[in-house]
Amino acid sequence: MRNSLYLTTLGILIISCGSQQKSVKSKTPIKSTTPVAVVPIKKPEIKQDEGDYYKVNIADITKNDNTISYGSIVSANPAGYKVTKNYFPSIGQNFRQRYVILHYTVLDDEKSINVLTQQGVSAHYLVNTLPDKEIYQLVDENKRSYHAGVSNWRKDQNLNDTSIGIEIVNLGYKTDSTGYRVFTPFPEEQIKKVGALVKDLVVRYNIPPTNILAHSDIAPTRKQDPGPLFPWKRLYDEYQIGMWYDETAKQTFLNQILQTDFATQSNSADFIVKAQIQLNQFGYNIPPTAVWDKQTKQTIEAFQFHFRPSNYNGIMDAETWAILQALIQKYPQK
Ligand SMILES: [Zn+2]
Repeated sequence: MRNSLYLTTLGILIISCGSQQKSVKSKTPIKSTTPVAVVPIKKPEIKQDEGDYYKVNIADITKNDNTISYGSIVSANPAGYKVTKNYFPSIGQNFRQRYVILHYTVLDDEKSINVLTQQGVSAHYLVNTLPDKEIYQLVDENKRSYHAGVSNWRKDQNLNDTSIGIEIVNLGYKTDSTGYRVFTPFPEEQIKKVGALVKDLVVRYNIPPTNILAHSDIAPTRKQDPGPLFPWKRLYDEYQIGMWYDETAKQTFLNQILQTDFATQSNSADFIVKAQIQLNQFGYNIPPTAVWDKQTKQTIEAFQFHFRPSNYNGIMDAETWAILQALIQKYPQK
């Protein structure tokens, strides 16, 4: 941003910058070429009590993503100068925290703590399996934690930059003799902790439903966590967290396609491309290859883990297709 500061004889600060936000411009700014005596800069009028302005919502939530802050502000401490925090609050600001990503650790409680604090991987929060009232914070919310890796959702990538990562202690899955993956259930108390924690984050940062995701949603070819036993529908129903489809919309789409031979139709190149484009439209990073290749099956599996956990075979069957249509309709990309 280019800022040019001009001091008029009236002592009014004029700001000119290239942003689309409102700026105040003088018709005939007079640029000082020589240093002048310091005139106190007139403070913009802020209707609030005295104190740290970050404690109140200074922006209009209907116009942007600004939300009420906790007031946990990190400021510079430049040698010889004072940083004033309650002088020029900008309405052009929002939170960097725009996603919540859920994981499981594939480790027990003790090992999860050790690995997430002593190695290169980390998360902001760790939810243990114990029936206590504790949730562990490992990284400050204003800092990045290393939980997402190479990741994409809709137009965003590298979601470590913009997310809060939550690791849930869970042993993941074991593969039985037939190759079927048997996942580990989440204890009731643990789900309640996750629900309360995510709810708190969503409210504080005004995080949209489309941005509450599984690690498998943002990295479907690499990750399966938190897996099909994680109760997304329950979080949606009980805590109003994340996305879920409307049953009637799903049924409407299902009725449309049962009249045709879905299994035959779904193996045509045209259908496959359309399905890949729709998965992409919903949020998954998947190219239109016109074949049911490995990456597409893994992406469908990730979708099923989240939205159709009763059967996660990676096949775009009629019900999976109908759920995808209902979700695209309910949560369109802007
Ligand atoms: Zn993960």
